[in-house]
Amino acid sequence: MATGETLHSQFVPRSRKVRILATLGPASNTPDMIRKLAEAGADAFRINMSHGNHEDHRKVVEIIRSLERELERPTTILADLQGPKLRVGRFAGAGAILEKGQTFVFDRSEEPGTAQRVSLPHREIFSAVEEGTRLLIDDGKLVHRVMSATADRIETVVEVGGRISNNKGLNVPDVVLPLAALTDKDRADLAFALDQHVDWIAISFVQRPEDVAEARRLIAGRAALLAKIEKPAAIERLEGILELADAVMVARGDLGVELPPEQVPAFQKRIVETARRMGRPVVVATQMLESMIDSPSPTRAEVSDVATAVYDGADAVMLSAESASGKYPCEAVSMMNRIATSVESDPTHAARVHFTETLPDPTTADAIAQAANTMVGTVDAAAIVCFTLSGSTARRLSRERPAVPLLVLTPSPKTARRLGILWGAHAVRTKDVANFEEMIAKAKRMALRHRVAKGGDRLVIIAGVPFGTPGSTNVIHIVRLVGDELDRYKGQKEAARATRH
Ligand code: PGA
Ligand code: MN
Repeated sequence: MATGETLHSQFVPRSRKVRILATLGPASNTPDMIRKLAEAGADAFRINMSHGNHEDHRKVVEIIRSLERELERPTTILADLQGPKLRVGRFAGAGAILEKGQTFVFDRSEEPGTAQRVSLPHREIFSAVEEGTRLLIDDGKLVHRVMSATADRIETVVEVGGRISNNKGLNVPDVVLPLAALTDKDRADLAFALDQHVDWIAISFVQRPEDVAEARRLIAGRAALLAKIEKPAAIERLEGILELADAVMVARGDLGVELPPEQVPAFQKRIVETARRMGRPVVVATQMLESMIDSPSPTRAEVSDVATAVYDGADAVMLSAESASGKYPCEAVSMMNRIATSVESDPTHAARVHFTETLPDPTTADAIAQAANTMVGTVDAAAIVCFTLSGSTARRLSRERPAVPLLVLTPSPKTARRLGILWGAHAVRTKDVANFEEMIAKAKRMALRHRVAKGGDRLVIIAGVPFGTPGSTNVIHIVRLVGDELDRYKGQKEAARATRH
């Protein structure tokens, strides 16, 4: 990003409100592809720490940051920690076929597995399960039910059989497992990601608010924290988790393994609604355009799924394998962009988004955010311009889901980047203002430059006095851009151009 303000900024805010989060991977982690994805509409990038090594990830961060400088558009990087993902051990001959109704044993032996037993290298599970607990293997394709369990042996009966093979994933949805929120790998990945100054850290398989608190303590404010909701236990304690997290993800992949898939849509709606009510950004993720991994066009059902998330007012929609390892990463981002743009131009979109009521908290920030949104309607303002240091005012405004562009001006590149997954927020890094006159002049100038308003339009400006003090939001001001200001601005622009060339 440029320091100060350059007149030739290429950053014209996208008119789309919902944000697109694209996962990077072998199909997309080159400078050329990342640029194409950004141009096709990706606002934020996810680095999946379950795959690749630190050297690969370091290069990706470098590519994104250099592109960001060139495009002068704050770009968000989210590092997604693998979390305590459980896996079975290895087999003699790589796998075995299990028949429905047979018994099977998970134990602590080092011996390669057979059709009768396999090792389970997670000590914690042995004491947590009991008669009746289900063990799901390979994304729930195989189902075992526990008959008995001791400290080193779990006997099960196979309810749904099939092929089990080396290191397949294991889900235990029925009990809260006494697992640490972060594994040793997660801690190493976290230290690396913070070192790279990523903007968001996502934590996986969160079970309780304490898991979020633990990650928060380790992150210590160096990045924002997103909790992935992918366990039934997390849904039960959703509000407590949201209280401690900066954002959440509806992680439908693992959620649909841990829960019957037909229950996922209702939970998706509940998670989106609760997050919006509590003013936390919410990302809807996984299999959104799954068929585009192999095909240049999606199924109609997938299009409808993305549209539903947009109508529900989610902050962001995410691509996983579609952009990370599929054959058509750019087409997938572009498709998502087109769906979102189309849905947002539907006249019923606003009413559907506002179906979720977001009553303000009894705070100055919420009172101002709500009032600003009302004023936009009353005076038919073209945009809201918000001055913020920490981004908290922008978050409260975004939560109101205003109908007009929300231009966020902040001196902090960190804040600007963190806002990249928020509904409707266009963050621009710019120098701080020192007084009221400067505030008004800068708001007008930036609104024109970033093309969210034109001569004759009104702006609703939000700021905090004293200027430069976080948490001081207490000013709403309405201004009108008069015609000659626009001419003056154009004049300045031309003069600047003339001196440059
Ligand atoms: P993952 O998380 O892609 O890291 O598994 C998302 C999900 O489970 O939906
Ligand atoms: Mn997952």
